[in-house]
Amino acid sequence: MPRVVVVGGGFSGCGAAIAAAKAGAEVTLLERTDMLLGVASRAGETNGNGWFVARHELRLMGGGDLFQMLDSIKLHENVHFPDGGGQSYIYHAGLAEPGLRKVVEKVGVKVRYESRVIDVEKKGGRVLSIKIEDGSRVAGDSFVDCTGTRGGLSFCIKYGQGCVLCLVKCVAFGDRLGLAERAGARMVNLHRPDGTIGQLGAGICMFKDTLAPWLKQRIEKEGLVKLPMPPHLIDRTKLKLMGAGRSRDFIENVILGDIGPVAKGFGMVYMHLEKLRQIPGFENVEMENPMYSRFNHVGFVTMAVRDNSLRMEGFENLLAGGEKAGNGSVDGAIVSGYVAGHNAARIASGHEPVVLPRQVAIGDWIAFVKEKHSSEDGLVKTYPMSRGDYWERMQKAGLYTENVPEIEQRMKTAGIEGLFSRAVS
Ligand SMILES: Cc1cc2nc3c(=O)[nH]c(=O)nc-3n(C[C@H](O)[C@H](O)[C@H](O)COP(=O)(O)OP(=O)(O)OC[C@H]3O[C@@H](n4cnc5c(N)ncnc54)[C@H](O)[C@@H]3O)c2cc1C
Repeated sequence: MPRVVVVGGGFSGCGAAIAAAKAGAEVTLLERTDMLLGVASRAGETNGNGWFVARHELRLMGGGDLFQMLDSIKLHENVHFPDGGGQSYIYHAGLAEPGLRKVVEKVGVKVRYESRVIDVEKKGGRVLSIKIEDGSRVAGDSFVDCTGTRGGLSFCIKYGQGCVLCLVKCVAFGDRLGLAERAGARMVNLHRPDGTIGQLGAGICMFKDTLAPWLKQRIEKEGLVKLPMPPHLIDRTKLKLMGAGRSRDFIENVILGDIGPVAKGFGMVYMHLEKLRQIPGFENVEMENPMYSRFNHVGFVTMAVRDNSLRMEGFENLLAGGEKAGNGSVDGAIVSGYVAGHNAARIASGHEPVVLPRQVAIGDWIAFVKEKHSSEDGLVKTYPMSRGDYWERMQKAGLYTENVPEIEQRMKTAGIEGLFSRAVS
């Protein structure tokens, strides 16, 4: 049985592990912390704009498992993000991790928690095994790096104004550490307009009970509310720090949502507590942890240079998914994770990896992100399907539609229906 090793248990790593298992591989998933889900434990927003199409495409390829799980923990429908489509919804961020475990375990993936990968054994362009912090080694026929791009500690101290004890949990579990970096793959970083490396994370979580009662009630009823930011607190310089191209609405307003365990200020790059408490409704607010009140953590550092099958440049059997491949967001991590995991199983079985055609949204998006991240000019942004440059392109190229039979027809014409549901022989 071909052996696939996936490193990193965020949405992309779980997607990769599930896809590789469905393709017939024996899969080991190594996660550095004691839980799955990675940084998406405080995400919540999903299915916006173009992601609606990508979700259907993935489902039609046989990879709908994780989106089905998210649908089952849907918390608020009909939420209207200023830059999101009518299909966006918020999932319960507190229920996603156990949901993810169930799906991953169901397809037979062997998960090893608290297993931080620290080194790689390779021969030429072939990775042979990886070394875990406890000294053990795991051998495989192909490997997928889904270690994300946030942190570690040294990056945040250097480029993010210090460690802010964020979701990456470096202090407890050690720095995020990519397989690609250890294997000597070629890497690129996003940078801000002033040239500083990395993007700042955007999103501030607050304990719901510390909001004014009227505000707590409103978000729990409506899911998402838009509150004008007092003029003296509007800081337009933050727009430039938001790599995924959030609109001005997120600077001139507080876009506050209920993601289950906490309330989340979507698109807030950072906000000092003292300032936040000047906004009506937030007078006694407490942030969930100290990560949010100073400059946020640094992301989109050390992304692997990969081709459109998501195989890393210069390697035969090393692939990347999710943010590590430049393909972030909840939906994007899942989608790209599946592509990387399926291709890892193909390579492990002695087949060539597939490149999804550009006539379908996922194929076009993977290629577009690669093109953008191949130039210094393009390395200033991320390119989700839900907003910004790719969302614009998607509409112009006719790849966006809310007509599901049209998406089905496109997949049929491309001949890739059911691709991820079949074992690779
Ligand atoms: C605060 C915040 C809010 C967000 N909100 C939204 C939102 O509402 N909607 C949306 O679409 N997107 C959102 N995003 C973006 C989205 O959550 C991410 O792009 C996506 O979840 C990334 O998934 P990933 O699997 O690529 O990486 P990660 O989630 O970062 O997962 C990487 C995993 O690898 C593990 N790992 C790292 N190094 C090692 C190692 N050496 N050995 C073993 N394991 C290792 C980590 O512990 C982690 O579990 C948000 C991001 C943040 C930070």
